[in-house]
Amino acid sequence: MSSSKPKKNPSTSRITPGADRRISSGNGNGSSPPRKQPATSKTQEATPEKPAEAVVPAKRRSMYENVMSQFNKAADLMRLDGNIRKILAKTENEISVNFPVKMNDGQVEMFTGYRVQHNDALGPFKGGLRFHPGVDRDEVRALAAWMTWKSAIVQIPFGGAKGGIQMDPSNYSPAELERITRRFTFALGSNIGPEYDIPAPDVNTNAQIMAWIQDTYLSTVPPTERQRNIHVVTGKPVVSGGSLGRDKATGQGIVFTIVEWAKDRGVSLEGLTFMVQGFGNVGSWAARLLVDLGAKLVAVEDVSGAIRNMDGIDPKHLSDYAQSHSGIRKYPDADRIDHIMLLKTQADVFIPAALENQITQETAPWLKVRLVAEGANGPTTPEGDAILQERKIDLIPDILCNSGGVTVSYFEWLQNKRNEVWELEEVDAKLRKKITGAYRRIRDVASDLETDWRTAAYVVALSRLETVYKERGIFP
Ligand code: NAD
Repeated sequence: MSSSKPKKNPSTSRITPGADRRISSGNGNGSSPPRKQPATSKTQEATPEKPAEAVVPAKRRSMYENVMSQFNKAADLMRLDGNIRKILAKTENEISVNFPVKMNDGQVEMFTGYRVQHNDALGPFKGGLRFHPGVDRDEVRALAAWMTWKSAIVQIPFGGAKGGIQMDPSNYSPAELERITRRFTFALGSNIGPEYDIPAPDVNTNAQIMAWIQDTYLSTVPPTERQRNIHVVTGKPVVSGGSLGRDKATGQGIVFTIVEWAKDRGVSLEGLTFMVQGFGNVGSWAARLLVDLGAKLVAVEDVSGAIRNMDGIDPKHLSDYAQSHSGIRKYPDADRIDHIMLLKTQADVFIPAALENQITQETAPWLKVRLVAEGANGPTTPEGDAILQERKIDLIPDILCNSGGVTVSYFEWLQNKRNEVWELEEVDAKLRKKITGAYRRIRDVASDLETDWRTAAYVVALSRLETVYKERGIFP
């Protein structure tokens, strides 16, 4: 076993945001094309037999432009210091790696992976890794910036980063996926680390993938250092140092914010109807925890299609079904519907928990809900936002609503550093305190500044970042 850190992989480079040297759009490296075509960017009408291409990964607009539009609105409103505005409008480091992996048939395939580090003024870079055909520099930049705001909002000492590999993991065997993950980790080398940049799960990645990253990283540090480095990733399996409650943390955080909203609006959770788009980690946990409080799940969509039952769907049963049937589409206790019918379903709450750019100029007028609770990152475009406001539909913005994941990741990181193991009740109580505190801060700022909740959430985040930059000054 190696007793020193790996040399930086020659295909790894740090580049400045403007210097677009290594990253190209499209397939990235121009090598062998992915085995399956990425999802298209058109919403198609579906029949019950033929599911719609429900979620539009939306290469038609830049996600980073969406972030900047949200950022600029808040920065104008709060009169953010001009110099600090310049800093926060840029990412700090953008790493792209092209790396080879041997497939089961003996052929070598080239992959392109990214890690974008947006800002570390408040603490080490922190953010998930996504394995998806839609992953590219623009998407990862946007997701990294959202992580910076999120950590600032819940007041945890982390900055923002995000990463991923442009690929469809369903095309690969578990053994291939393991080799891809390990080779990507090796290619990133010392660009990640427990006190520097800490990955976590996101779309199509999970605790198993975190365990492979952890093991690969630990294999590259001296044996005497290994136990002091297990917090290089969060969202690990519990026995490998993960935290109790991390699997459900994002869904749990969403539910805590909905509980607060219901209190504020005098709405009872008993019989509250809701629908969920995306039934993976975030969507399925949010659904299960909300149903535990008496709410009724009436419609669900995942990559396989959409279903509806106004009498209620059992999320635990659906989750088990989805695992054994590659999705929810043929679930027997509900009707199959298309994407448009899902969005037009009458319900109290809509939880988008799949991908970005779902609530748009086109789709926002269709929603018949009182509240959108954003489980996904970036599900609403600026045009969609304006329509929701006009229609007086409440919105709990992503950077607050889904911050439960990074919050419990912080708890996991702390437990690892201190060699502690917290009970689930302790994790849940601490999470509740963090999320409800953030919810109330944003609610108060929205009211004081007479602005929408997304802008208020940005103001809360940017104020904290502005303070730290003013305290420390700009070197030299
Ligand atoms: P996941 O991979 O566990 O689940 C994704 C779900 O979205 C799956 O049910 C999948 O079928 C569905 N989906 C994918 N493509 C779709 C399509 N074209 N149409 C309809 N559904 C589609 O991912 P996740 O971890 O649950 O993440 C979901 C969202 O939540 C993402 O935006 C992610 O960035 C965000 N998020 C995740 C976490 C976390 O802790 N995992 C934390 C904060 C935010």
